[in-house]
Amino acid sequence: MQALLEGGKLHKYGPVQGDPELRGILSQIMSQEIGVRYDAEDIAITVGVKGGVDILMKVLLGPGENAGIIAPFWVTYPESVRLAHGVPCFLESDEALRPDPARLRKEVEGNNIRVLVYSSPSNPSGVVYTEDELEEIAEIVKEKDIWVIADEVYAGFVFGGRKHSSILSVEGMRGNAILVDGPSKRFGVPGWRIGYVAGPREVIGALTKLQGHTNSGASRPEQCAMRVAYTSQKARQATNDMRQRYERNANVFVEGLNQVDGISCIKPQGAFYAFPCISQLFGREYEFAGKRYLIETSVDFRNFLLRKAQVAGVEGAPFGMDGYIRFSLATSEENIAKALSNIKDAVKEL
Ligand code: PLP
Repeated sequence: MQALLEGGKLHKYGPVQGDPELRGILSQIMSQEIGVRYDAEDIAITVGVKGGVDILMKVLLGPGENAGIIAPFWVTYPESVRLAHGVPCFLESDEALRPDPARLRKEVEGNNIRVLVYSSPSNPSGVVYTEDELEEIAEIVKEKDIWVIADEVYAGFVFGGRKHSSILSVEGMRGNAILVDGPSKRFGVPGWRIGYVAGPREVIGALTKLQGHTNSGASRPEQCAMRVAYTSQKARQATNDMRQRYERNANVFVEGLNQVDGISCIKPQGAFYAFPCISQLFGREYEFAGKRYLIETSVDFRNFLLRKAQVAGVEGAPFGMDGYIRFSLATSEENIAKALSNIKDAVKEL
């Protein structure tokens, strides 16, 4: 705001790749947080993390080429692949919703995957990939010489004293790995619509060219706000406070859910979601406003919770797993307790 008022310094077009000073700050953050050296040149500012994913798919995929999306996945990945005229291929995880390198290798080979994408910490599951898992994924990526997009937008929220690990820091991945990240979750500012991409210089160059013809680069006042946020001690503390609250909410909510007959939930290790399996409740019936309903899908279960528990979840189907439902834990501890008690009461009636 202040910068906007200072003689309109930010009114004109800026560099399409983004403010060099901001890119320099992000370069330092990457060194500190994931232990890799990416110069300001290797980073581009995008219109949200979503804008980064979208434009990367257009840069990396040719028409009809396959992108491997590790399930469960963030709902936007398949759509961004389709918008780039690519073909989404869904790659199954194991029962604990963790990546399964042996299966992954087969599927990457079998489907002639060109680009692999995942989020860790994961939306929707809260799974955080371990260093070993990342190394195994990196080995497949290297061997097949394909691209991997690591969406680390929830990196600020890793629980249980664990450390966030990035595939960018696995040796030999520089030529194949691309990071997408941004301030939306870290500082709770998704409305800013700003993010960044770091990766091989030729990818950043192509992305910048494309960005020049689609949106001319991210908003300059937002880049200014981002610079302030990434250098602010207060903002860092706010992320830390949020992480503690999300972790407390995850512990209470998931423990409570696992006491409900027919619901089982893995413990999230990061992000701010719970993603329980509810398929055991399929086939159950309930009554609402004089009508009987049968639960056969995650959409039916979502509607059941809205009607009978006044709790909003997002059905698992668009995340690639219909037997599941996603709840956001980015709320107060009181809301978590109330939601849990309402869910318990509602499911008892099934
Ligand atoms: N990546 C993941 C995994 C997300 O869950 C989200 C938002 O929910 C985004 C990216 C989008 O971030 P942004 O709001 O910065 O576009």
